[in-house]
Amino acid sequence: MEYGLIIGSKNVKTEKRKKVFDKFTGEIIAEVSIATEKEVELALDSALRAKKTMAELPAHRRAEIIFKAVEIIKGKREFLGKLIAMEAGKPIKYALGEVDRCIENLTFAGEEAKRIHGETFPVDASKAGENRYGFYERFPVGIVVAISPFNFPLNLAAHKVGPAIAAGCPVILKPAGLTPLSGIELIKAFVEAGVPEGGVSVIAGSGSVVGEMLIKDKRVSKISFTGSREVGEHITKTAGLKKITMELGSNSAVVIDREVYDLNYTVKRCVLGAYYNQGQVCISVQRIYVHRDVFDDFLELFVNETKKQVIGNPLDEKTDIGPMISEAEAIRVESWIDEAKDEGARVLTGGKREGVVYHPTVIIDAKEDMRIVKDELFAPAVVIMPVNSFEEGVERADNSEYGLQAGVFTKDVEKAMFAFRSINTGGIMINDIPSFRVDQMPYGGNKGSGLGREGARFAIEDMTVLKAVIFNFNR
Ligand code: NDP
Repeated sequence: MEYGLIIGSKNVKTEKRKKVFDKFTGEIIAEVSIATEKEVELALDSALRAKKTMAELPAHRRAEIIFKAVEIIKGKREFLGKLIAMEAGKPIKYALGEVDRCIENLTFAGEEAKRIHGETFPVDASKAGENRYGFYERFPVGIVVAISPFNFPLNLAAHKVGPAIAAGCPVILKPAGLTPLSGIELIKAFVEAGVPEGGVSVIAGSGSVVGEMLIKDKRVSKISFTGSREVGEHITKTAGLKKITMELGSNSAVVIDREVYDLNYTVKRCVLGAYYNQGQVCISVQRIYVHRDVFDDFLELFVNETKKQVIGNPLDEKTDIGPMISEAEAIRVESWIDEAKDEGARVLTGGKREGVVYHPTVIIDAKEDMRIVKDELFAPAVVIMPVNSFEEGVERADNSEYGLQAGVFTKDVEKAMFAFRSINTGGIMINDIPSFRVDQMPYGGNKGSGLGREGARFAIEDMTVLKAVIFNFNR
């Protein structure tokens, strides 16, 4: 397959090409055109020319375009599922789940497109405002640059592109270098759905070249970035005066109380959260703090469940665990876990790398200052630690530079509320894992996870600017 860039609704082929590989077999699945400075300029220029047209689209039309894109994506569900499975190494059952989420996510964006509105405000709350009337409205912010990571190549691009169209903004997508195909398919669907020329573009190329040109450009008003903390911090320092949304990484924790409703269910959810997409999920379960009284039972069940995980080709429906995104990543994980072992941690199962595959791994006897605990591990490996009380678990869960989501399992509603108030994350799941997310919820991190806001309504709001109007009746 050959993929071009999409600029101003047109398929643009360039001389520079990059091969995209099936992450499990290593086979070439497509060749994609790589943007140079010329194509970046073309995309920016066509977005600039589309700015007025996009802003003037009525709400019902913006919604209609998004719903049409949803229908196109629905019609390609199986194809897109396979594409994600191959380019991202995501087991097919989860890859299809990502397509379904993208469909739902864009549907929310289409619905919200019709609800963007301002509100009145009491001007006369100020003495100077007597006999005046005021309200504000929301207007599209301008050109949006959407930069997405490899691990949800379709849905995380949709999290940015859908809201941009809903808000009436031209958007340029820069997908991750290792997984550009799903993002290109997404933009194809929007072009086919009737976005005005220049309203959507996608340009593949490396972050350090193409991404860098986009984030620095003064014509861009908003950057919506999902990716690593390192790149996120770099963007905040480089972008200049722009609206910026940052969705970064984490080392999410779960706290297990002495009494939970169902220990088997708890373990099964934690196993899913730890290994889903090989742990390459921003809200993957990395740290589990278990009340000492149930620690042994929890651990035994967890190790047994881990051993049932089926490793294999992501295209096989039975596969639970596929490859890491690259062998370099698998080697990094191996080195972090080996380092922890040298410092006294014990591996109960897994701890093994076979090429690009890292086996699902359970680690105990880890210390809080080990890299596998305090940094983002981003791997099919989990650290399980005993605590003397639920409160200690909560405190340790919060003891992180990151703060995306956390989960607690308890039967006690007061403890649940204590966790909700005490853990500084963007979301807390009660009797569930931090990895739970639905695409309309307010979602975003705290601390080193960025302070962004996603979820249709919130993302759309952040792609608008407020304009106030005041009528003076003292004339
Ligand atoms: P990276 O930060 O490496 O890359 C993310 C995107 O940024 C890619 O498109 C990349 O392009 C681009 N990029 C890299 N350098 C620059 C630059 N200088 N200027 C502009 N863009 C640049 O992240 P990964 O793709 O490895 O994704 C994994 C990370 O994403 C993890 O930390 C994970 O936790 C986080 N994440 C956060 C989520 C959230 O909602 N909070 C959700 C999912 C993931 P290229 O690939 O070409 O280098």
